[in-house]
This record gives sequence, structure tokens and C-alpha cells, in this order.
Amino acid sequence: MSSMIERLFYSKVGQGLLSAMGVKPPVDLPRFAGEIPWVKNTVAMAEPAQESLARVLHQCGINHEVRQADKKYDAHIFDACQLQTSADLKSLYDDFSKAANALNPTAKVLIIGRNPERCDSAEQASVMSALNGFTRSLAKELGRKAIYVNLLYVDQDITDTAASSINFLLSARAAYVTGQPLIVNQHSVEEANWQQPLAGKTALVTGAAQGIGAAIAKTLHRDGAHIIGLDIPQAEQALENTMSEVNGTALCLDITSDTAAEDIQQALKGEPLDILVHNAGVTRDKTIARMPEHFWDMAININLKAPMSINQALEKSGMFAEDARVICISSISGIAGNVGQTNYSASKSGIAGYVSAQSKQWQNSNRTVNAIAPGFIETQMTEQIPFMTREMGRRMNSLSQGGKPEDVAEAVAFFAQPASGSLNGQLLRVCGQSLLGA
Ligand code: NAD
Repeated sequence: MSSMIERLFYSKVGQGLLSAMGVKPPVDLPRFAGEIPWVKNTVAMAEPAQESLARVLHQCGINHEVRQADKKYDAHIFDACQLQTSADLKSLYDDFSKAANALNPTAKVLIIGRNPERCDSAEQASVMSALNGFTRSLAKELGRKAIYVNLLYVDQDITDTAASSINFLLSARAAYVTGQPLIVNQHSVEEANWQQPLAGKTALVTGAAQGIGAAIAKTLHRDGAHIIGLDIPQAEQALENTMSEVNGTALCLDITSDTAAEDIQQALKGEPLDILVHNAGVTRDKTIARMPEHFWDMAININLKAPMSINQALEKSGMFAEDARVICISSISGIAGNVGQTNYSASKSGIAGYVSAQSKQWQNSNRTVNAIAPGFIETQMTEQIPFMTREMGRRMNSLSQGGKPEDVAEAVAFFAQPASGSLNGQLLRVCGQSLLGA
């Protein structure tokens, strides 16, 4: 029955009916295809912008100019760091009431402000917090044309610590990120290599046989990393296939096994691990009263317990590189909750909490740990959702479509860069600004 409705929905007749009802097909989202610089088109800057912003854009190879009234743009930056009072917020209105109509579909808007936690006065903190509500609303308004709006909070001023975030958020690498805030701290960062950001790095990706994990392996490989892909023995063939595409090493084991950390260490052959991506995950959905005990245990053990114990073991044995990057895949279900997913949502908000706490333990080191919360991503996991629920999940976001595994992978690659050392303890939603938990 479900597949019959699905066939009808996607048939010419079905799509014609939808269009007659005013449901528009989603806009095709541009995705990164290896272009250097990552941002090709000229970025419009609202006046007045700090000199330091121009310097950082130059560092990323991005052309920019003060916004011209008669021109349309593919990118727009508003530097709000100098705003002090609620009256100053009017400059947002003054700029965007004009700029909103001067943006091409799929354009990128970036607003940069000061981290409210680091402001000198309560009034300025409130002004900087106001940017958050403004960004989220503007992203919803402009999402109709698939125009992206994101917010970057810097410590005090825009410095090279913000370069990797600015370059990422303005580029097609951030194809499914909109309506999101990110915070960069003042931690000194290495100069970026935009061509091969991960050259010379070793990355271990769990759950790499298929879906998002396979996309992460391919993207990190594209950016120059050597890949060790891990998956369960039952997925050996698929894992071998993915690893042969990336010239990587396959490691077949269950991350919940007692010897998982030891086996990982052996696979590293004494070399420090630069990047660890905890992507392996399962859903075992049932409402709580109908949930068998092993469904609960599986979701918690695979999604939450195993990543933490592997990290602990690797840290204890000194296997993490000095500037290691750990990236955990959470979920918007961990933020919003979902019927039938008490186990899964608990595990995914648990992992977000772990990242936040662990990042504080690493704040005086060069290591970082961050989380990504994907929304609706087109994979085998989401293919199993009944058709109508799936179609709703796919559409209920500002971009009116599901994301691709590559979109999550690009966010992982962004956090993994040496130049992203000023991002620690962040939870980035790659969800097209899903209405769930928004
Ligand atoms: P998937 O089921 O396609 O892939 C998961 C992989 O993890 C599989 O290859 C599986 O064999 C592996 N795995 C499972 N248990 C393992 C274990 N014990 N040891 C080692 N490997 C194991 O799923 P996906 O859609 O690619 O999801 C990847 C991650 O993204 C998961 O953590 C998932 O919770 C998260 N996520 C996915 C979506 C989505 O829309 N697909 C949304 C939010 C979060």
C-alpha cells in the first residue's frame, strides 16, 4: 500500500496535483565540487565592516565589496560585532530590508557577532543574543528561495580563528546548514590549507560501510586523509568496497565488543590518531511500553556507551594526536525527541552532553571534540520510515527537502581541519533548519 501511494506521489499526475495545490518542488541545492577558492562569487558586505573581516576573507581567497544597490549577490556578510545597544539593532533592518531582495536563490548570508557570554555589558549581550532570533527567522523567511542564513559568534573581534568557519558557511560545503549559530573561541589556529585541508592526517570512521559513514570516509579522503574504516563483520563486503574506493584500511569489529578499543589501537600500529569520527549508530524504534529490553540496550550501547569508552581508552593509552579532532554524530531526535525513539533520542542527547563536557576537559589543549546533529538525511536508515512520515520528515525544514550523506560528511571535514581548532564543544545541526526542535 505504502509503495503504491509512493509511486502515485512521484508520478507525473501526482506531481501535477501537488503543483496545482501550490506545493512547489524544492530548489536544487548547489554542492561542493572541489572548487578553489571554495567561494567563487563576490561577497557583498554591509557597511560598516571591520578591516579584520576583509583580511580574513582575503585569507580564504574570497572577493568582496560593499553591497551595491543595483546588484544581485550570491553571498552577503553582515558584521554586527560593533553593535552595542538595542537601537543599534536597527542597522539589521536597514541593511536586510534592502539586501533580502538583492540575493539570488541559494545565496549564503552570514551574520557575525560577539559571543554573548563574552560581552562587556548586559545590554550588548542582549543585542548579540538578538542576532540569534533574527538569524533563525530570516533563514525561515528566505528558505523559500533556498537562501541560507547562519550566525557566527566570535570572541571579541574577527580574527583568523574564524577563517575556517567563514569559508565553510559561505561555501557549497555547507549545503544543508541554515538557521544555525556557531561559536568560535580565541584558540590559536594553524594556517589553513584549503586545497588539501587534511593532508597527512589519519582518520578513523566508525560505521563506514554505508550511508553517512561511507560519505564521511570519501570526503575525508578527498581532503587528503588516510582512512581507516570500521564496521561490523556482517558488513565486511560493503566496508571493503568503500575502503577500496578511498584506498583505505578496513577494520571489521563491533564497537561494543570488550576488545574494541584494543583492536583499534592495534590497527593504528603505534601511530597517533588525528581524527576520530563516531558515526556508527542504530535505531531500534518502539514506544516505551512495547520496547523489548534489548532494543533499549542496543541503542544506548552502540550510540552512546561505545564512543565514550573508546575515547577514554585511546586517551589513556596516549593514542590521540596532540591536535586530535573527535567528531560525534548525534541527531535532531536527541534535541526534539520523537515518538518511538526514547532509546535513540536518549543516546543522541547523551552524546551531545558528553561532547559538551569533554570539550571543557580539553579546552587547554589543542584537541577538540564536536558534535553534528543531522536532520532528515536520505540513507537506508530513513528509507525504512513509512512513506507519509518520511515525506513529512523530508519537507519539514526551511529548504523543503532531505539532506544528503555528503552534507553531513562536509560538516565532519570542517570540524576535522587543523584550521578549525577554535571550534570546541559545538553541536552543529545539519538539518536544513528542521522544524523539529527548532
Ligand atoms: P546506516 O544504518 O546506513 O549506517 C550505520 C552504520 O553503522 C552501518 O554500516 C552499520 O553496520 C554500522 N554499525 C552499527 N552498529 C555498529 C557496531 N556495533 N559496530 C560497528 N559498526 C556498527 O545509518 P546512517 O543513516 O548512515 O547513520 C549514520 C549515523 O548518523 C548514525 O549515528 C545515525 O544515528 C546518525 N543519523 C542519521 C540520520 C539520517 O537521517 N540518516 C539522522 C540523524 C542522525
